[in-house]
Amino acid sequence: MGLMRKYKPHIVSLSGGIASAVAADRVIGRYGDEVELWFADTSWEDDDLYRFLDDLEVRWDREITRYKDGRTPPQVFEEERVIGSNRFLSCTRKLKIRPFVKHLKQRLPCVIYLGLDWTESHRLEGPKRRYEDMGAGVDFPLLWEPRLMKRDYMELVKGWGIEIPMMYRRGFSHNNCGGSCFRQGAYAWKKLQQSDPDRFRWMMEWEEGMQKVVGNHTILNRGRSLRSLEADGRQLVFGGIDDEGCFCDW
Ligand code: SF4
Repeated sequence: MGLMRKYKPHIVSLSGGIASAVAADRVIGRYGDEVELWFADTSWEDDDLYRFLDDLEVRWDREITRYKDGRTPPQVFEEERVIGSNRFLSCTRKLKIRPFVKHLKQRLPCVIYLGLDWTESHRLEGPKRRYEDMGAGVDFPLLWEPRLMKRDYMELVKGWGIEIPMMYRRGFSHNNCGGSCFRQGAYAWKKLQQSDPDRFRWMMEWEEGMQKVVGNHTILNRGRSLRSLEADGRQLVFGGIDDEGCFCDW
């Protein structure tokens, strides 16, 4: 007979961002050794994200399960002959959600924890229903008391003696796909243009290359190309237009 599991796993999906790290820290504080950590690598991450995960492993004294499909989001969209955007999210489905679902089905019964907070209440219901339909419990540790504000995450992580991931230090509000998330808005693309012009240019040329194949669609809404954004010299002010959800938006 195989080894029987003595506990119900508490599984936290880490994104590499500070919110999910704080969420995981809360779950570990409550359930200790019964907590399992999962991260899906899109092969398109900022290098410093891996340093952050390494530091978290030291703090928590446990390994993070690191899954990697091997394809990047642009490669997924090339295969599908679609220009990714916040309307076409096969990158997150194929590189993160499907493998996570496969993993969690092997861990049932389990409870999964998502790093969404009270400002994202419109995002809670969808994933909660879907995971519960599979037989998993779902909880949101950032809704536990005391309630935290987004600005608290940064102070908490610093208080652990861990350096904030580079993407935040560059002014991004997320650590998703090295600042080239297909969901992000114009503000974040402009940040990328300023902080990593080579990567921005690569994405701009990728968008133009794909347009020759699939037609005149764009990553940004309203047909705005990265080329036109590059030429726009105005400073964009962050106004909540960026939609940076990934794994939790299912
Ligand atoms: S972070 Fe953005 S680009 Fe990366 S997998 Fe998620 S939705 Fe796709």
